[in-house]
Amino acid sequence: MKKFITLFCLLFTLLLSAQSTYLHCGKLIDTKNGKVLNEMTVVITGNKITDVKKGYILSSSEKDITIDLKTKTVMPGLIDMHVHIEGQLSPKRYIEPFVLNDADVAYNAQGYAKTTLMAGFTTVRDLGGSGVNVSLRNAINQGKVIGPRILTAEKSLATTGGHADPTNGRKKTLMGDPGPKDGVVNSVDDAKKTVRQRYKNGADMIKITATGGVLSVAKSGQNPQFTIEEIRAITQTAKDYGMHVAAHAHGDEGMQRAILGGVKTIEHGTLMSDETMELMKKHNVYYVPTITAGKSVEAKAKIKGFFPEIIVPKALAIGPKIQQTFGKAYKKGVKIAFGTDAGVFDHGENGKEFGYMVEVGMPAIETIQSATVTNAIVLEMSDKIGSIEVGKLADIIAVDEDPTKNIHTMEKVSFVMKDGVIYKQ
Ligand SMILES: [Zn+2]
Repeated sequence: MKKFITLFCLLFTLLLSAQSTYLHCGKLIDTKNGKVLNEMTVVITGNKITDVKKGYILSSSEKDITIDLKTKTVMPGLIDMHVHIEGQLSPKRYIEPFVLNDADVAYNAQGYAKTTLMAGFTTVRDLGGSGVNVSLRNAINQGKVIGPRILTAEKSLATTGGHADPTNGRKKTLMGDPGPKDGVVNSVDDAKKTVRQRYKNGADMIKITATGGVLSVAKSGQNPQFTIEEIRAITQTAKDYGMHVAAHAHGDEGMQRAILGGVKTIEHGTLMSDETMELMKKHNVYYVPTITAGKSVEAKAKIKGFFPEIIVPKALAIGPKIQQTFGKAYKKGVKIAFGTDAGVFDHGENGKEFGYMVEVGMPAIETIQSATVTNAIVLEMSDKIGSIEVGKLADIIAVDEDPTKNIHTMEKVSFVMKDGVIYKQ
């Protein structure tokens, strides 16, 4: 017993004397209340925030570290609700499935993950890849690879010929007949099976392609592709397995089916009608705009030979419309969850989205709240991330200027801490 007490005392002393980091923040964004505070100190012990105080507080212990961020604006780590961490758009995209092994994809992906973290995004929702995303998430969590905290949908779900059917555009002998195991469904039963398969494969949530899309080798970029019964089967099964559902949608009909079918977020939302905006509000569905991806596909479509021909008219028609739709939806009071579709443009440029949002009327402070507190709510992680408060994970970033004065400062993040570890200073 005496031995036990001695050991306990030793552990307690160690705990008390654990090294802490003191961040002296010139400005600190209170994302919960939408305020910029001046001259604050944030104390980090281990991977948690242990104190937030007015003024520049000095530690009495020699072991502690003080970091001077007095000329910076500090805020919680950013959250991107829509990335594809496995890949990055290039003219080679359409041959990659035939020439890259999973190991090649994995080596590429770990680079994209590091770039994303260095851009200030400490948590991302990965909305579709091949399954390497699950391994990458695990490797990051185990500290083997540097990257953001990843929540992944593993493989996106589609119908035959739909936006995420992996064999679209191939010659018939290479098309095969992908089914629920590969994320392709054509009935209510398939829908249930494919969700359970994603769970088994290690997905954290489900992504469906409720309408056609720009980058698939198929004619329509906006037709509805699931029946409402299939969508309901997906959302109900996902709920049983503790997962939410994100729906890619450009066309209005598919978007309405997704909302009525019970999805949590609408991605892109390009041709969203006034009626659908009201439906979003009524059903508490969040809109993830991805304006940067729209701008990117429009620009790339103008480069001859970048895309297969069938994609060019879709990219030119859909790409430029997203920003205006977002502006309108915001003004109508639709809830906005920040998301970019990084991978459709270069990873690490996620911060451009802030400027595009501000351009069409969302105040800078609200864009930052959208990428922090709001996204934490959508991910049901508000107790851990999204604000700088005692007890939360130490995901903290800093930029050189006050983003409420110059939003483009969000494109050049100069300090990154994730889980209490400094990755960029
Ligand atoms: Zn996407």
